[in-house]
Amino acid sequence: MSIYEEVEIEDLDYDEEEMIYTYPCPCGDKFRITLEDLWDGEDIAPCPSCTLRIQIIYDEEDLPPLPESDDDESDSENEDEKESVEDEKEEKKVDDALAASVSKSLNV
Ligand SMILES: [Zn+2]
Repeated sequence: MSIYEEVEIEDLDYDEEEMIYTYPCPCGDKFRITLEDLWDGEDIAPCPSCTLRIQIIYDEEDLPPLPESDDDESDSENEDEKESVEDEKEEKKVDDALAASVSKSLNV
């Protein structure tokens, strides 16, 4: 499995409706990879018409957000989010307690 070229994600064409990235292949067709594949960590875009493929250089934070999907995986992601929100609340409580003790000591 050989890589024809390494391509920065900025150099690919993005089709918002299809949520697919394409890049011209020397054979006349286009390399293509979906946004979902990129979020899954897949960085190899094959050409459907020949054996060439490119490797895409990207950071997940550069990707457009993936629309909500209704498969099981999204459930566990939501749980993670809930947990982090509770963590933030916990930290805020500590901050409040700290602020209260600070203002108390200021009053004295
Ligand atoms: Zn091709």
